[in-house]
Amino acid sequence: MKRWLISENGNFYKACLHLHTTLSDGDFTPEEVKQKYVDAGYSILAFTDHDIFIPHNDFSDEKFLAINSHEIEVSEYLFKPNRYHKTYHLNFYAKDRNATMTPVFSEKRVYIGESPKYVTEEMKKTDVWACYSVRSINEVIRIANENGFFVTYNHPVWSLQNYADYAGLEGLWGIEVWNTGCVREGMPDTTVPFDDLLRQGKDVFPICSDDSHVADDFFGGWTMVKADSLDYDDVIKALLAGNFYSSTGPEIYELSLEDKVLTVKTNEIANIRVVSDWRAPGTKTHTPEREGDVFVTRIPLKIYRENYRAKMVYGAKDSYFRLEINGRDGKRAYTPAYRFRDFPELYQ
Ligand SMILES: [Zn+2]
Ligand SMILES: [Zn+2]
Repeated sequence: MKRWLISENGNFYKACLHLHTTLSDGDFTPEEVKQKYVDAGYSILAFTDHDIFIPHNDFSDEKFLAINSHEIEVSEYLFKPNRYHKTYHLNFYAKDRNATMTPVFSEKRVYIGESPKYVTEEMKKTDVWACYSVRSINEVIRIANENGFFVTYNHPVWSLQNYADYAGLEGLWGIEVWNTGCVREGMPDTTVPFDDLLRQGKDVFPICSDDSHVADDFFGGWTMVKADSLDYDDVIKALLAGNFYSSTGPEIYELSLEDKVLTVKTNEIANIRVVSDWRAPGTKTHTPEREGDVFVTRIPLKIYRENYRAKMVYGAKDSYFRLEINGRDGKRAYTPAYRFRDFPELYQ
């Protein structure tokens, strides 16, 4: 039986899940940002202005969806020289389009841009009390999750963070593996924190975003969401289910598993790398075959349990695999990670 890792049904919608407007420190108004992305073929934008939660449901129609969201930061600069401070940046996305308030909010930055006029007395009472520690950040994430928000951990490299800062985080939905604004600033993200979390058994999704502040940040990294429609609930359902991939270029048309073989259909690419939590031979590169206009890569997922060290190709049941699709221009797409335990047919 064929299993679809990215759903067969539905439509792909192009999304940017991290951006800024004049409501915080972006160069463009929310209306201008929407127009730029719509003109570039996007259908979904999450407005993640810093430290202020302003729903944009009035932007949504049959061709466009605004996801209500915001970004907070918790920094250690009170304790260290300003230049070297680390910082946690997290995005919070409302599962319910009618959410009018965020459970986690800091008023310290609402004085930038055009945001002050939106700041209500209710918001001012919900100041983030977090300090720079894993324990405190986990409390923020927990509160957000309990109140109907899901959370992305943003740009660890730009934030000067390392394993000690993120390995203990709990309850994350996503992690940025690409952030165009951070690339512009010379601090490109990597997949190291993503794999570090996966190797601990924490299921997080890879996100490519723009974090658009200025014109140069637009259209560098995005998420292709496969949803039944552009309705808020359908898109949130698809995001929470991992029914998407993220990319800086390559396109994925199909990702399915049948008879222990993964089939990946893409546009023209260079190769596909399978990443697992095992060293070689768990991580392998596969070259595609051209079939008409589509490139097709068939990847056998072999399980050899009888001789773990010598023969294991892809791993034990708690192991995962994920794909990186590499374009000829060096651009890359990232699938979610999948746990072998969810595919019992591989062990028969
Ligand atoms: Zn940020
Ligand atoms: Zn940001």
